Amino acid sequence: MEMDKDYERKCYELAYLIFPDVDETVEDLEIKYPERNTLKETAIVTRIAPSPTGFMHTGSLYQAMVHKKLSTQSEGIYYLRVEDTDQKREVPGSVKMFTEELGYFGLTPDEGVIAENKEIGDYGPYTQSKRKDIYRICAKHLVEKGLAYPCFCTTEMIDKTRQMQEANKVVPGYYGVYAKCRNISIDESIDRVKKGERFILRFRSNGSHMRKIAFNDEGRGKIEMAENDQDVVILKSDGLPTYHFAHVCDDHFMRTTHVVRGEEWLPSTPIHIDLFNAMGFEHPKYVHTPLIMIKDGNSKRKLSKRKDKESAVSYFIKSGYPAEGVNEYLMTILNSDYEMWKSQNKDKNFMDFEFKLNKMSSAGSLLDMPKLNDLCKEEVAKMSGEEVLNRVLTWSKEYNKDFYDLVAADLDYSRKVFGLERDNVQKIRKDIYKWEDVEDTFRYFFDSIYQKELDEVGYLIKTLPEEKATLTNDVIKTALEEYIAVYNENDTKDEWFARMKEVAEKLGFCVNMKEYKANPDNYVGSIADFSSIVRMAVTNKKNTPDIYSIMQLLGKDTTISRMKDTISKI
Ligand code: GLU
Repeated sequence: MEMDKDYERKCYELAYLIFPDVDETVEDLEIKYPERNTLKETAIVTRIAPSPTGFMHTGSLYQAMVHKKLSTQSEGIYYLRVEDTDQKREVPGSVKMFTEELGYFGLTPDEGVIAENKEIGDYGPYTQSKRKDIYRICAKHLVEKGLAYPCFCTTEMIDKTRQMQEANKVVPGYYGVYAKCRNISIDESIDRVKKGERFILRFRSNGSHMRKIAFNDEGRGKIEMAENDQDVVILKSDGLPTYHFAHVCDDHFMRTTHVVRGEEWLPSTPIHIDLFNAMGFEHPKYVHTPLIMIKDGNSKRKLSKRKDKESAVSYFIKSGYPAEGVNEYLMTILNSDYEMWKSQNKDKNFMDFEFKLNKMSSAGSLLDMPKLNDLCKEEVAKMSGEEVLNRVLTWSKEYNKDFYDLVAADLDYSRKVFGLERDNVQKIRKDIYKWEDVEDTFRYFFDSIYQKELDEVGYLIKTLPEEKATLTNDVIKTALEEYIAVYNENDTKDEWFARMKEVAEKLGFCVNMKEYKANPDNYVGSIADFSSIVRMAVTNKKNTPDIYSIMQLLGKDTTISRMKDTISKI
């Protein structure tokens, strides 16, 4: 529609009145933030856009993985933009936390805000509160074109309209006849601005919710929705933009090719497309990622920030989940064919896998913690004792200082402890999936915490007679006494086992498991029971790596004194 000349002139007048200090134009911005011509034509430019609210949702980590994969495999760019336009919700330290958490998983962006007070790239500033000038230039452009107008309505008036719309069961919002300030004359608008009346800026939509628009979601395919007809707010009273407007200005001038965001933004996409069109910009491609779900009894529900500790990325870091395992898990929920690929490419890294947007599920991705734990176990099993030691040191230094001091006190010893059934073996013991559990799993190697457990929780061996009636306290005591008498630290493993069998047999245990199973009543117990007694007396655990190696590491004095101590306590 051709604007009438007089109206057009008045729009410019209004724009000037509202933005007297804005000299730059959208064309200037186009020059300042040019297309990313140094990249290949097929390169994907994607971004993570956290709001600094002090919390990184696990869903953001999932998205970060999408950004990383898409940008890396297309030789594009993945950048971080801080979306701090809702200053009431801002929590200090969020940017530091967010960037560090991404870093933990190896998902640091290539550009934008990459650490607290550190940004790189030519498309900045990458923090929205520092981009006011850009939004003002863009907003001025819309006012000049008659596509934005000042709205003088108070919150009370807006509330009243909404109540009335609800009562009349019409679509709520600021549009058509309900858009009071849209329908006042431009002369009146100019007049009221001149008088200094307070206002915010709204978009003038030319859409109709009776019409449909279709757009493509790169993951979900073609989507049809009602056109936008809402005159959404673009600049708030504090001069900052709303999400809708900032998204349009930023993703255009940062030259984003793919907006990958949570599916909660899908319903607003028609607004965004309407705004892109009004600005004369081409809209980016959209990908709306599914919600992360969690099992709750027999059903699934949305991961809840309030109820589920797993909804915070910080939970995984504080618990010491290895990034490799979590990343593997993310890949399995991102692309359904990942597991198949991985089973055929065991030695390859997830970064070698070609991620495809159209293979992404839209139905909600299940955060299956047992499966995630298993994948982490697999990853830990690939590490050497040295690597586990280093990881445990890094983690415990931050989250369990007492344990850190114990581990660091004798690095040689700790290396051997973590290398047990890990280094130089065919079949690796898979017992750890997060560093938080290491203290408990290996507690018996560190005397002070071992003693503390005995004092607080007691002797596990006392439960043995309940499990097997023949293993009475007297049997246990005698077994340990006789064993102490013959224990020789210098035995080889074979000698050690032969000696254990000798004692066991003498005390009425069966040393042949097959025979024992055939006639259990003929014996006090089996050789396995005998070694359980020794294991529990030395480690206070039912399951451990090979007990011979443990005794070797602990040394004769500790081994014997623990067995003696057990005898005196039962
Ligand atoms: N700041 C928005 C949020 O945290 C980002 C959405 C987007 O990626 O566009 O939900």
